[in-house]
Amino acid sequence: LRREAVAAAGCDVGGTAIKVVLLRGRTAARSFEVPAPGKGTREEAIDAIAASVRAVVPPRTRGPARLPVGVAVPGFLDAARRRVVRLSNLPRLDGAPLKAALERRLGTSVVLDADTNAGAVAEARLGAGRGRERVLYVTAGTGLGAALAVRGEPIRVSRHTVGQVAHIPLDPSGLSCRCGARGCAEALLGARGMVRRARRMGLPARSPADLHRMASRAWPSRKEAAIARSLWRETGDLLGALLRVLTAFLSPDIVVVGGGLAGSADLFLPSARRRLCRRGAAVVPAALGRFAGAIGMALLARDHSSKSAR
Ligand SMILES: [Zn+2]
Repeated sequence: LRREAVAAAGCDVGGTAIKVVLLRGRTAARSFEVPAPGKGTREEAIDAIAASVRAVVPPRTRGPARLPVGVAVPGFLDAARRRVVRLSNLPRLDGAPLKAALERRLGTSVVLDADTNAGAVAEARLGAGRGRERVLYVTAGTGLGAALAVRGEPIRVSRHTVGQVAHIPLDPSGLSCRCGARGCAEALLGARGMVRRARRMGLPARSPADLHRMASRAWPSRKEAAIARSLWRETGDLLGALLRVLTAFLSPDIVVVGGGLAGSADLFLPSARRRLCRRGAAVVPAALGRFAGAIGMALLARDHSSKSAR
């Protein structure tokens, strides 16, 4: 059986939603998302992840058929990738032996990885980075992260990721960050940072989506629209400053920008590109959309099952 012929399930556990796909070949045959489990115990959160995976798996492959399953988490795993060390948006799972707990519930082997790695693998193999050897994936949404895929495999520099990119300082006197420092990349470019910068400029926005609408030509207040567009240009400048650091260290052939912010790429990518040196990597928006992380986890689970079958 060719590796690609094996179906696999991929799950991306985020702070706001759990996204799941069933991957056949290079296609997501099924996909859906459910809201992230709200308040409750750790066991309930793990039950919710297992239930969302079960829902995407065809009935006859449950149990003995042992469909490989991959689960992405927004944060850090232990050295063996069995246990959660710390998840910024899901602290309930901190310390949880997630691999064993999910394997018990699903009756199949489960691969865990950082959500940034999963997104990078998907975009490198099937998305905007196809055909490039070194793909740097930067994702900005609720949080901010990055991963490097080389020939489609995630590079593990520190805690299975390229490092804590969220806390690279961009502006030492900038907005305060949840880590206690000031001006970290995430404090400026994460959803909350976007809204805080907007409020400072007098824009009554509650989310980056609001800021996207305000920057449109159709927005009733021309003054607000002009301020919103300058905020997006500033966002591009900040992203460009971050990419200068990351590209200097990681030498990517291409930079793929994903996460919620990618939907507004035309508003900030031009100013980000202007910040980079002319001979540097191209910077492009992600191609796979909201399910990139889940697709990447299905790919990694399939790799793992074909390796262990050999
Ligand atoms: Zn920080």
